[in-house]
Amino acid sequence: MKRCRFCGKTAEVSLRYANMRLCRDHFIEYIEKRVLKTIEQYKMIRPNERVVAAVSGGKDSVSLLHILAKLREKLRFDLVPLHIDLGISVDDFSKRALEAFRENCKELDIDGIVISLKDEYGFTIDNVASRSVRRRLRRPPCSVCGTIKRYLFNKAGVELNADRVATGHNLTDEAIFLLQNLIDMNLDALLRYDPVLPSVPDVGLISKIKPLFQIYEFELELYAKFRDLKIVSGACPYRAGSTLSEMKKILDELENLRPGVSIVVVRNFLKKLKPALESKYGEQIKREVPLRRCSICNMATPLDICAFCKIRDVVLSEMRGNAAKDVSRAHQ
Ligand SMILES: [Zn+2]
Ligand SMILES: [Zn+2]
Repeated sequence: MKRCRFCGKTAEVSLRYANMRLCRDHFIEYIEKRVLKTIEQYKMIRPNERVVAAVSGGKDSVSLLHILAKLREKLRFDLVPLHIDLGISVDDFSKRALEAFRENCKELDIDGIVISLKDEYGFTIDNVASRSVRRRLRRPPCSVCGTIKRYLFNKAGVELNADRVATGHNLTDEAIFLLQNLIDMNLDALLRYDPVLPSVPDVGLISKIKPLFQIYEFELELYAKFRDLKIVSGACPYRAGSTLSEMKKILDELENLRPGVSIVVVRNFLKKLKPALESKYGEQIKREVPLRRCSICNMATPLDICAFCKIRDVVLSEMRGNAAKDVSRAHQ
C-alpha cells in the first residue's frame, strides 16, 4: 500500500509532477504552503494591506478564500470577501452561488460584500445572453461576463479602499491562456500577462493578484473536497467552453507525457520569454495604451468610454426595445 511521504499514513493523493504521495492532511498543508510561498515569492501581499477576494462560489475562489483566511494572520493583511450576484436564473445558478458565498463567510466569521448587477446597474447576465444582445455585442456571453466581472472587482476594490483584488485563477487556466496566446503569437496579450498586476492610482486601477496560479485545477478540486468546502454545484449554464475543454484535454495529454509541463510553461514564460519580449516590445506597448478615466463612470479605460459602460448601454437599450415591443404587442 502507498504511504504518505510525511507521516506514513495511507496516501490519498499521488502527485506525479512532484513524485510525491500524500495523505489528506498533508495534502491540505502542502497546498497552503505552496500558496504562501507564491504570495511571498511574487510579493503579492504586503503587511497591513487590504485584500479583496473575488469569490464566485466555485471550487477555485472558495478555496482561495479559505486559504487567504488561514494566511491572513501570518501575513498580517485585512481580507474582504466579495461576491457579484450576476442574476443568472437558469438552474437557480446565481441564487445557489450567493448561498454558497454566504455560507463560507459565515463559516469563516468574516463579513462578505455582495454586489447585485441587477440592483446596481439594472441588468443581469440573463439579459446579456439574450439573442438580441448577443447579436449586437458580437461576443459570447462568457467573454462579456468576464469584462463585467473584472470591471466590478476593480470598482469594488476602489470603493473599499483596497490595495489588491485576488482572484482564483489556477495553474491550468494560466497554462492554457499562455499556450493559446503563444499559438496565436499574440504579443500584446503575452506582454500584459502577469500574476501580479500593479495598481495605477492616477486612474483608479487596483493591483490584481492570482495567489493560486501555481496550483493545478485538480489539486483545487481535491483541496475543496478534502476540506469539505461549500461550493456551488455545476458549471455556469452559459459557459461556452468548447475550445477551453479541448485545450484542457490536450494539456492533460501533455501532462501524462511530461508531468509538470503546465508549471514549466508558466514559470519559464515569466522567467525567460517575458523579459525578452519586454526588452524588445515593452516600451512600445506602454506608449500605445495610456489609460484615462471613462467619461461616463470615471473608471480606468484606454478609450473615451469604458467597455463596461458600452456593454451596459447596449443591454439597457435592448431591454427597453423589447419592453416597448411587448407593450405594443399587448395593445394589438
Ligand atoms: Zn501524511
Ligand atoms: Zn465607464
